[in-house]
Amino acid sequence: MKVTVNPVTCIASENCGRIAPKVFGNPPEQGGFVELLDANPPESEWAAVREAKELCPSATISIEADDTHTARR
Ligand code: SF4
Repeated sequence: MKVTVNPVTCIASENCGRIAPKVFGNPPEQGGFVELLDANPPESEWAAVREAKELCPSATISIEADDTHTARR
């Protein structure tokens, strides 16, 4: 799985950091705007990343390669 975020569209709702805190951060010193902590998260994080993507109110999170059905590299 390859994850990207678009900092231009983020509205700092901080959902992502609550749902997938190993992949997304919302540092207070950045006003809660998203910080991508792990662009290639391990499989154990995939469900949380997908949920964060679904619940992001501004469609800021993209999953560019979702390798659920492909062999792991
Ligand atoms: S859930 Fe979306 S809008 Fe909210 S902080 Fe994360 S990336 Fe930004």
